[in-house]
Amino acid sequence: MTANTDERKMTWPACDICGKPTTAADGYLSITYQRIHEIMAELRQEYSREPEVVDAGSRPPPQPAWHWGHSKCLPESDYWIEAGRIDTLRKAMAWTLHLHEKNWFGMTDWHRAIRRLYPDIGSC
Ligand SMILES: [Zn+2]
Repeated sequence: MTANTDERKMTWPACDICGKPTTAADGYLSITYQRIHEIMAELRQEYSREPEVVDAGSRPPPQPAWHWGHSKCLPESDYWIEAGRIDTLRKAMAWTLHLHEKNWFGMTDWHRAIRRLYPDIGSC
């Protein structure tokens, strides 16, 4: 590894919705809160039942997905990160640390989103 590894540039995926290229001016990574709220309600219901019916390992809920695309193609977004604010690995790490403080962050597919933007990141 070199000292500049964390300045690696982002891969620019095409828009999830229209399939056209994105730029720093119009691309962003976003998520909607709807699925997050649904999962929170499901978990509240699940934990209010008798303990023996709870089997956490059997049915992981689908993860709320981060989407990449043009801001105009993702109008329902509740939370978004403009492309220019996550276009280096260092910025992506800063976002990861920031979002980690949100109570909904852990249930999202952030790991997939980051691996998509930085496919050469490798594994531990
Ligand atoms: Zn688009």
